[in-house]
Amino acid sequence: MQALHLGYHYIRDSAAPGPNCAPSRLRKQIEALKGDGYQFLTCGEVAGRLDAKEPLPDKHVTLSFDDGLRDQFTTAFPILQECGVPATFFVITCAFERKLPPVIGFQILIAELGAERLEREILPKVFAGTPYLDLLDPKRYDTSGRKMGEAPEMRRIKWMFNHWPSQSFKVEKLDEMFDGWLGSGSQERFACEYFMSADQLQAMADSGMEIASHTVTHPALDVTGLDEIEQELSRSRRMLYQLDIRASSFAWTFGGKFRPRARMIAGNTYMGSWNFLSELKTMPEHPYADLTDIPRLHEQVFLPGVG
Ligand SMILES: [Zn+2]
Repeated sequence: MQALHLGYHYIRDSAAPGPNCAPSRLRKQIEALKGDGYQFLTCGEVAGRLDAKEPLPDKHVTLSFDDGLRDQFTTAFPILQECGVPATFFVITCAFERKLPPVIGFQILIAELGAERLEREILPKVFAGTPYLDLLDPKRYDTSGRKMGEAPEMRRIKWMFNHWPSQSFKVEKLDEMFDGWLGSGSQERFACEYFMSADQLQAMADSGMEIASHTVTHPALDVTGLDEIEQELSRSRRMLYQLDIRASSFAWTFGGKFRPRARMIAGNTYMGSWNFLSELKTMPEHPYADLTDIPRLHEQVFLPGVG
């Protein structure tokens, strides 16, 4: 059996604040996969067939798009329709209430206010009176795991942000920073600019695309408390249900390895949970050994005509 699962984020020609695939590249990849005889399934179909002990096609592929980004509706969706292939969209549900998930909200704050101003002027005020004030101590900066090509001040600020342990604290402080420094209504405006709307989501669901869960606020699930994880997983499912969407698939945020208890929560809430390989090697021989941890590849490592 040849199984290939490709994951995407932004789909645009211009530079994006996260991983990006040009629309022409997406089209080429789909054509190459079709030419190679791959059958296109949604993530939900794969997990559903495995659960029902039904056979999967010998050669099959899933395309999945994370975060519910607007590009995916305006640019990827028409390409998928033209090519006649289904895909899975793992969405962050707070965006439908026009709130930003902290990870993307913070990227926007850095872009709008500058990393240095955030660190020197804004965060000391935001952290004042909280247990997180010591995060501003330069001695605490971890220099490992930084991304290539990022300026040092960017690494520092992202490290600091990722080490605020409580997701609810991040959500609360993000509100405060958007209102206080970018003006009231700014968060809503950016949420509309970056994420697709509930109507757009429903249009995709109506045309046969799978809509699935990627939590409510995109927490870092390796450091988040188990109660908070349980809430994030079940609430996002409920929010989609209110839009008449039955989500059976889930994508782990940030990829990586998770505690057995977190995997159990995912297994109790969704039929299949999809990850990104932490190292970009080829797919393992048995990708379905654990339905709470089905590996995907970043599309960047997939070359048209190969695989
Ligand atoms: Zn994500």
